[in-house]
Amino acid sequence: MAYNVVLLPGDGIGPEVVAVAREVLQHVEHHSAGGLGFQLETVDAGAGRWRRTGSALADPDFELCRTADAMLLGSMGLPDARHPDGREAGSDVIFRLRFELDLFAGVRPVKLYPGAPSPLREPGPIDYVIVRENTEGLYAARPGGSRVEGEVAADTSIITRSGTERIARHAFALAGNRAGQHRVTSVDKANVLGSYAFWRSVVERVSSEFPGVALESVYVDAAALYLVQRPRSFDVLVAENMFADILSDLGAATIGGLGLSPSADIGADQGLFQSAHGSAPDIAGRGIANPHATVLSVAMMLGWLGSRNDDPAATRAAGWIDDAVGMVIASGDGLTPDIGGSRSTAETAQALLLALDAVAAA
Ligand code: NAD
Repeated sequence: MAYNVVLLPGDGIGPEVVAVAREVLQHVEHHSAGGLGFQLETVDAGAGRWRRTGSALADPDFELCRTADAMLLGSMGLPDARHPDGREAGSDVIFRLRFELDLFAGVRPVKLYPGAPSPLREPGPIDYVIVRENTEGLYAARPGGSRVEGEVAADTSIITRSGTERIARHAFALAGNRAGQHRVTSVDKANVLGSYAFWRSVVERVSSEFPGVALESVYVDAAALYLVQRPRSFDVLVAENMFADILSDLGAATIGGLGLSPSADIGADQGLFQSAHGSAPDIAGRGIANPHATVLSVAMMLGWLGSRNDDPAATRAAGWIDDAVGMVIASGDGLTPDIGGSRSTAETAQALLLALDAVAAA
């Protein structure tokens, strides 16, 4: 099948890692011998565009995203490109896509590849997924909230029954289908706020629809502790927008960092795929950005396209990419400095493409 994929490289290291993703897609197309094709369209979006034009994403480009088969994003944002109220302009792109396309499920795998450096003394196998509610919670207040005469600022968290039900169902279905422990850990702060007690009661009711999947509920502060102390005990975690945003960076730290952390934002009809990291202004332009997280996001994209379109070629290609990343990391060569190596982005890309060739030919 042929897929129309919109690339949004964005800011900082975004264009550097999306360039590698583009090469990976071209290799996949070559190896699929006509079974898989990609029509790639690049869209200028992000903080850089906002600075030049006053808008982070043009309306016709939003329309391109809306009608594409999938979107692949580099990273959006530059810390000094801010609206007058202090919010970053680059995030306008991601929030617009998430909210207007209703990409309600943020799916963030946390997997320790053999050979990747974990700061944990005995990490064991780490392989779980954080499912983030993407359109409600505290971030739903953006860009509203109340500001009173430079003295008071308030943002309101929104938890709805329907929003909680659909994200809980997404998490339970994922736990049921994964070759894991068939368990969902719901993360909340039900001991303090009524909105989280409501979240917990809704998740518990949804759990009765999935008798093959166990449910446990954990307070967010304890979850932060357990993700470090016993990460191997988790299978699928589900949490409100901001909690999951924070916990997924913590999870990333345990498996070698943001350079190894892919993610997907999924709705009923669209999927946006991007690494969990930002634009890394501290290393942008130095040629040392780790492309693995974005390349793993490409694998998620192909897996999603494969199951959505019943397309075994896309599903197989997703497996090739995951195996190729595993090979490069296990080899200990071709690693960028953030994960203990000394290779450049271009050298890592070369190692990845060679591994992909080997995997696809096997
Ligand atoms: P960041 O993720 O950009 O960087 C955090 C740290 O991780 C930095 O030390 C950086 O060098 C390192 N890092 C991140 N990705 C890396 C990679 N691929 N290879 C090697 N090292 C990597 O987070 P930040 O510094 O808090 O934010 C920088 C900008 O990115 C801000 O403008 C922020 O708003 C934006 N941001 C965007 C997204 C997104 O596009 N989805 C997500 C988070 C932050």
